[in-house]
Amino acid sequence: FLLLSQICIYLQWSILRACCSKFWHISDLHLDPTYHITEDHSKVCFSSKGIPALDPGVFGDFLCDSPYRLILSAFSYMKQADLQPEFIIWTGDSPPHVPKEELSTDVVIDVIANMTHTIRGFYSLVIKPGLRLVSLNTNLYYSPNQVTVNMTDPAGQFQQKLEKVKRTRCTDHVYVIAHVPIGYLPYAINTTAVRESYNEQLVKIFRNYSDVVQGQFYGHTHRDSIMVLLDQQGKPVNSIFVTPAVTPIKSLLEPYSNNPGVRAYLYHPENYGLLVSFYLNLTEANLEQKSDWKLEYIMTEAFDIDDIQPHSLHELALRFEQPQSKDFDKYFNHFMVSYNFSLTCEGLCKTIQVCAVHFLDQETYSQCIAKAGI
Ligand SMILES: [Zn+2]
Ligand SMILES: [Zn+2]
Repeated sequence: FLLLSQICIYLQWSILRACCSKFWHISDLHLDPTYHITEDHSKVCFSSKGIPALDPGVFGDFLCDSPYRLILSAFSYMKQADLQPEFIIWTGDSPPHVPKEELSTDVVIDVIANMTHTIRGFYSLVIKPGLRLVSLNTNLYYSPNQVTVNMTDPAGQFQQKLEKVKRTRCTDHVYVIAHVPIGYLPYAINTTAVRESYNEQLVKIFRNYSDVVQGQFYGHTHRDSIMVLLDQQGKPVNSIFVTPAVTPIKSLLEPYSNNPGVRAYLYHPENYGLLVSFYLNLTEANLEQKSDWKLEYIMTEAFDIDDIQPHSLHELALRFEQPQSKDFDKYFNHFMVSYNFSLTCEGLCKTIQVCAVHFLDQETYSQCIAKAGI
C-alpha cells in the first residue's frame, strides 16, 4: 500500500512539476564541522554538548547538528530533482548549536561583509515583473535578543518595510521571508517566537497589507507548520509557512525531532498554488549508507484541498480542531517530517498546535487557549 501511494504521489508530482513556476525553500542547515564517527559517542559532535550521540551514522545523528555530508546530500538531491526553480529562499541559521564562545565573531563578520547588499539584514528584491520578495530581519525581534529590548522599531525596519509594501501596493505581489516566524510557537503554550510586542505590531502590519502579501515563509522552529492569518472579522487573509530544518538536532529529553527536510513550492505569481515537501529518512540513510531523499507529501493532495490559499488553509485548520481528526494526525506527522509515526499529539499538545495555526495575536490566541479549558 505504501509503495502504491508513493507511486501515486510521484505521478501527481510529475504532472504538477510541468505546470507552474517553482522555488525551493531551505532553512536551518546548522553545519557542525566537528561531526565525525568515533567509538566514543560523546565525542561525535560539539553540538551534542558532551551527551553521547544516539546512533551516529555518516549522515548525522538526532542529537547532533548537520554533518557536511548531510548538507551536501540535500543540495545534490535538489540539483538532481531538476525542478528548474526560479529562485531559492534560504532562511538562515547556519552555525551549530554550541556555546557562543565557541563561535568566531570574526568569521561571522567576514561572512556578512561578503553579503554587502544584505548588510542591514533586510532587503527587498524584484524576482520578476509583478513579484517582489521582502526579506525581513526578524532576529531583531527575537525574544532572547538583548540588544533590542525597549526599542520600538529596531533598525527602522517597520518604518522602511511599510514604505516598501505601500509603494508596491499597486504594482507587485509580495512574498515575505524571514528567519524567526511571527505568531505563537506550535509546541510551547503562550510563547511567541519574537518578543510579544513586536509580534502584535507585525500581525497588525500583515493584516493591513494582506492584499499585497501573497505568502510568508519562515524557518527557525525546525518543524513543519502552517499558520493562517485572520483579519479582525475572522476572515482568512494570509497563508504562512514554516519550513522544517535540514539539521535533525534535538535535545536528549525532547521526544520530538525532525528528519532533514527541504521544500519546493509551485506557484502562480497571483495564486502561489501548491506545496511539495521532500525529506530524508535519517535512520534509513545511515543504515544503508546512502542518502535517499524522497518526496514526503504534496499538501493539496495529502489534505484534499484545492490550493494553499488562506481560505483553503482555514478550512483545513477547522478540520484539525475536530476530535480524533485524521487530518491533524497527518499534520502532526509532517510537523516532525515523518520522524516517528508512533508519537501522538492529543490534549494540551493538540490545543497548543491548533491555536497556533489560527490565532497569531495575543487576544485571539489567549481566547483559543481559554476556550479549551486549560
Ligand atoms: Zn535553527
Ligand atoms: Zn533560529
